[in-house]
Amino acid sequence: MPASSLHEPLIDWYRKNSRVLPWRANPEPYAVWVSEMMLQQTQVATVLDYFRRWMERFPNIESLASASEEEVLSLWQGLGYYQRARSLHAGAKLAVTRGLPKSAAEWRSLPGIGPYTAGAIASIAQNLPEALVDGNVERVYARLTRDYATGLQLNRNTWQWAKSQMLADHPGDWNQALMELGATICTPARPRCEVCPVRANCMAFAHNSQSELPTKLAKKAPILVNHFMWIPCSNGRFALDKIRSGRWWEGLWSFPFADSESLLRERFPDARLGPHRQLRHVVTNHRITLQYRLAETTGDGLTFFSVSEVEAMAVPAPHRKAWEMLRQQPTLSIS
Ligand code: SF4
Repeated sequence: MPASSLHEPLIDWYRKNSRVLPWRANPEPYAVWVSEMMLQQTQVATVLDYFRRWMERFPNIESLASASEEEVLSLWQGLGYYQRARSLHAGAKLAVTRGLPKSAAEWRSLPGIGPYTAGAIASIAQNLPEALVDGNVERVYARLTRDYATGLQLNRNTWQWAKSQMLADHPGDWNQALMELGATICTPARPRCEVCPVRANCMAFAHNSQSELPTKLAKKAPILVNHFMWIPCSNGRFALDKIRSGRWWEGLWSFPFADSESLLRERFPDARLGPHRQLRHVVTNHRITLQYRLAETTGDGLTFFSVSEVEAMAVPAPHRKAWEMLRQQPTLSIS
C-alpha cells in the first residue's frame, strides 16, 4: 500500500528516537533471531547481558549448531522458558544444513518460530514486507482504531490491519516503529499522548478513551504449587537429577524435589537433614512455594558434582535461588 499519514510521522519519530540496542546495530538474520527468541516473555533490560554473552560465545549460526545442549542451556540459565533455547539450537542445526530461510514462511518452518518472530526476522533483517503483531502492536492498533475486541478476535483484527499497513519500503523500520511506540509512548498504563507522533490519527485520543483500550480480560486465577526439595550432599559434593522428558523443566538439572516431603524420605531414608528453608517464586501464573534443605546422603542412583560443576549447570530458577541462598552460608554442610 502507499504510505499513509500514519507512516511518515511514525517512521520519522522512530528514526530519531529509537532506543540503541545491540541487535539493532547490525541487524543480520542470526542476531535478530537470537534477540527475538530471548525477548519472548522477557524484558529488554534483562536480555541485554544475555545477548552480549551469547553472541560472544556463539557469534554465528555454525558455532551455535556445533555446541552441546548442555552448554546452550547453561548460557540461557536465568532467562527461563528453556524451550526457546532448545528451539534456537535445533533451528541453527537445520539452518546450517538447509541454508538460511528466505521468507517469513520459511522461517516459520524452524522450531519455536511463530508468525510474530518470522515477521520480525524477515522484515528487520531481510527487508521483506512481512507484517508482525505482538502485544505492543495490538495495543497501538486497538487505540488508533478504537477497536474494543478482545482475545483472539483482537489478535485477528490486528493482523489484518498490520498486513494492510505493510510498506514495500523499509518494512523493518515500520514494524519496529509500531513496537517502539507501544513500548515507550503508547504504554499499557498512562500513555504519553502529548508526545505521540500519531495522535492526530488516533481515535482513542480523539474520544479520550485510551484507558479503556485494549479491552481487558479477567485475569486467570493463580495456580499455587508447593514443592519440597532436598539438596543431597556428601563430602563437599552435591547431587542433581536430569529432569526427564515430558516433565516441567525437562532437560535441565534439578535437586531432587517432590510434591510432599514423605516422597523424598522414601527415596533417601538414611538422609541426615539440615533445617528447613523456604522461598517463593512466580512463573507465568504459577506461584511456587519451595521448601528446601540440605540432606547428607550417598543415596542410590545419585550423581554428585563439585560446587563449580553445579554452578555451571542449567538449573530451574527457583532451585538456583535456593542454591544461592545456601551458598551464602559460611559452610555448605549439615553440621
Ligand atoms: S495518541 Fe495516545 S493512545 Fe493514541 S497511539 Fe498515541 S499514545 Fe497511543
